[in-house]
Amino acid sequence: MLGVLGGGQLGRMWAHAAQTLGYQTAVLDPDPHSPAGLVSHLHLCADYLDPQALAQMAQQCAAITTEFENVPAQALAQLAQTRPVSPSAASVAVAQDRAQEKAHFTRCGVPVAPHAVLSNDADVAALSAALLPGILKTARLGYDGKGQARVANRAELLAAWQAMQSNDQGDALAHPAHAPSHGVATSASQATPSATVCVLEKMLPLAAECSVVLARGNDGQMVHLPVQANLHRDGILAVTEVGDGALDTALADQALAAARDVAQGLDYVGVLCVEFFVLRPDAPGGKPSLVVNEIAPRPHNSGHHSIDSCDVSQFDLQVRCMAGLPLVPPRAHSAAVMLNLLGDLWWPGAVPAGAPAPQDPKTHPATESAREPDWAAALALPGVHLHLYGKTQPRRGRKMGHLTCTAATLGQARDVARQAAQCLGLAPW
Ligand code: ADP
Ligand code: MG
Repeated sequence: MLGVLGGGQLGRMWAHAAQTLGYQTAVLDPDPHSPAGLVSHLHLCADYLDPQALAQMAQQCAAITTEFENVPAQALAQLAQTRPVSPSAASVAVAQDRAQEKAHFTRCGVPVAPHAVLSNDADVAALSAALLPGILKTARLGYDGKGQARVANRAELLAAWQAMQSNDQGDALAHPAHAPSHGVATSASQATPSATVCVLEKMLPLAAECSVVLARGNDGQMVHLPVQANLHRDGILAVTEVGDGALDTALADQALAAARDVAQGLDYVGVLCVEFFVLRPDAPGGKPSLVVNEIAPRPHNSGHHSIDSCDVSQFDLQVRCMAGLPLVPPRAHSAAVMLNLLGDLWWPGAVPAGAPAPQDPKTHPATESAREPDWAAALALPGVHLHLYGKTQPRRGRKMGHLTCTAATLGQARDVARQAAQCLGLAPW
């Protein structure tokens, strides 16, 4: 049996891949309806730090991973005393903290956005004006654009900093798969209330965003998926494209080299996603350049296409890493466009296409007017692969599923994806 901490959609797709290779799966997640728990042989419905649940996990699983980077590092460390755990608690700890993450990138010689770590009021007062306008991000527990504020000037920075110091902030940052409440012992709740450490990043002119999903084995061997071009809306991934023409090849090669350096520097074992910003050139005719944004110590939303577009998916790679099976380079047999399906789709016409999603699902609860999108219409299109995560309650901004359109060329995959988007009421891109 193989085990995973966290039972969201990533755990669910990992469980499917593990089961294909004949493994049983165990999930530790406090949510009785967790998507991965629903499809696993064993669901330990308990807190991540529950000693009995961790002991049972260690006893029954030959190897353990996490699908959730905010899992307490302590839980991973405890399991690692008796079982192989990948990624390591140390790698996950770096990914959990934007300040550590950026320090790691710098150590690896990989370019990062100009930034400052803000630990107290004096740091805020001393911030260089060259970093404004910028984005203030909590160092820990942010995801899908949550825990962030765009600040144009010093006054806005101060207001956003003060808001982030309030105790409400931690409540807004729950597990993406099970928001709003989750039994996670967060470092925010352990930290002194006066110091929610933040990172202020300079606002950069983005031409595009891209990501690399790679897998690194115990022996240091690395394989990777094709580099993915990503479009975010309101801080949440909306569209991923892969295939010839998705991204300039020189930039893609740079991204791959940087991602390998980041993994190597962590002595990383498992599946890792490295996200990048492609910067617009300063001068007309200049070349776009790349800076690393962040890492996810696990399979990533931008790699979901690999289930349908590659002969080995990111979840297959995670299982192979855990089980010590050979890592073969995934071969893309199709170009692909992946569309995320958020809970917003259950309320057609309620919000104009492209309107920002409110951050707080509590103010937009599921109502009787919710209706299931017309899946049959999308599935009637050739090359459409629909994945729904088994979540019963749609909420605005909640990831309910995704859809991958595969075709011989990226142009064809885009055509199908646009038709599918129209059938489902997704905003065009
Ligand atoms: P999260 O952890 O929530 O994914 P990110 O740091 O990746 O947070 O930010 C979410 C999105 O916000 C990014 O994908 C990008 O579109 C935008 N963004 C973040 N930082 C910057 C920046 N420094 N300059 C411009 N856009 C940014
Ligand atoms: Mg991100």
